Amino acid sequence: MDSYDVAIVGGGPVGSFAASSILSQNKALQVAVFEHHQKSGFPPHCSGLIGIDGLKKLKIYHSLAKHVSFNQIKAAKFFSPSGRSFIIDRKQNELLVVDRPRLDSLLAKQAYKHGASFQYRSVVKRITRSKQGLNWIISGISPDTRKFEVVSNIIISAEGHHPRILPQAGLQPPSKKWFLPAFQFELENVSDIDRNFVELYFGSKFAPGFFVWLIPLNDSRTRVGLAIHPYLAKGVRKRLSFVTKKHPILSKKLKKSKLVNSWGGFVPASGPIPRTFTNGFMVAGDAAGQTKATTGGGFNIGGYCGYLAGKVAAESAHVNNYSSNFLKKYQQLWQSVFEPELSLMKFFRRGLSFLPDKKLESFFNIAIQTGIDTHMQKIQNIDLHGKALLKYSLTPRVLIQGLRLIPQTVVSLFQGLFI
Ligand SMILES: Cc1cc2nc3c(=O)[nH]c(=O)nc-3n(C[C@H](O)[C@H](O)[C@H](O)COP(=O)(O)OP(=O)(O)OC[C@H]3O[C@@H](n4cnc5c(N)ncnc54)[C@H](O)[C@@H]3O)c2cc1C
Repeated sequence: MDSYDVAIVGGGPVGSFAASSILSQNKALQVAVFEHHQKSGFPPHCSGLIGIDGLKKLKIYHSLAKHVSFNQIKAAKFFSPSGRSFIIDRKQNELLVVDRPRLDSLLAKQAYKHGASFQYRSVVKRITRSKQGLNWIISGISPDTRKFEVVSNIIISAEGHHPRILPQAGLQPPSKKWFLPAFQFELENVSDIDRNFVELYFGSKFAPGFFVWLIPLNDSRTRVGLAIHPYLAKGVRKRLSFVTKKHPILSKKLKKSKLVNSWGGFVPASGPIPRTFTNGFMVAGDAAGQTKATTGGGFNIGGYCGYLAGKVAAESAHVNNYSSNFLKKYQQLWQSVFEPELSLMKFFRRGLSFLPDKKLESFFNIAIQTGIDTHMQKIQNIDLHGKALLKYSLTPRVLIQGLRLIPQTVVSLFQGLFI
């Protein structure tokens, strides 16, 4: 039976970051990455809009991300259900639009070069503690070997949405209700767009529980997608077709467009799980809910948490201590960087998703009147906007104007928290 120091389940970006992180600390460690699909990054599911600041922190902006970038974004335009809008203009390139499948493959290649062994087309089905309780027995299937079984001292779950092995380790997975079904079209010939702007459209008629996005790739190609809350609507693909035909603003822009590609997935909006480690086990990325619940973005934050999980795994191998008591350092590290931001973003997502359009419209009016644009221009890192949103919500002008919306917002928040 093959034996590893660390087995990583999931060869997406988070799994690759974890593998590179371990091996850049200790080249001698045996690290395996088990990936269901034939290649990292495939099939695609992401819109590829990623904060430049976060990419720099991950140290891949210059070396990798810039080479797979289609476009750079300075500003976001937000549309209310009735079509009122405001712009948050960051005045400088803040986000990259990248080719995610290529970026994921490059990250896997980087981890491979560091010495990780990638086992593609290998699905991990079951994990159990060995009889002595010292390590994990990992079993799964792959078309080449049929069944496989390996042992490992540590497992890092980087399984993405709907993790399968996480509950087997006794940890609570993110709430399924907050992985929002999403679909996206890539279109040519979209008119009346600014290449430096992304556009976000809110309203229950088109994207109940989330929003519709428009992301320009270059002068001729654009991504338009949406996510919905599964309690509010079904049929995400049909709904996106409906948007392209019937949305009062978007349908005009898309009138002459031609569909060149489409794909779907689950936007991670659950917020972080309470516990991300146990004996010989850590979890990072979407599987741990380490994403911005407001927008569903998870590449940078999940990637950094993957890096931290790898760092702690290497340290634990160094001292031969795989206990929960040692691995709790991982949770302390990621929380010190990303909390209370992630929990605040979860709180905003839960409060907003079930607001009726009328109230959403009122929030847009308040945002426009109280200058949310200037407030949000000032924040340092766009990936971490939870505290900034809270601070803005608590300014006297917003509080006074927002008082009448509190009862409905509390109802919506309760719905969001307890569904
Ligand atoms: C429509 C959509 C748009 C998005 N847009 C953005 C965006 O613009 N910007 C952004 O930052 N984020 C975006 N995201 C979120 C982002 O894609 C995720 O946060 C990110 O991919 C998380 O990485 P991960 O490695 O945790 O999970 P994944 O990328 O999902 O990778 C997990 C991998 O694990 C493998 N796997 C799972 N279980 C097993 C198993 N048992 N055995 C073997 N392999 C397994 C899967 O095959 C997969 O390859 C979007 C998501 C969706 C759905």
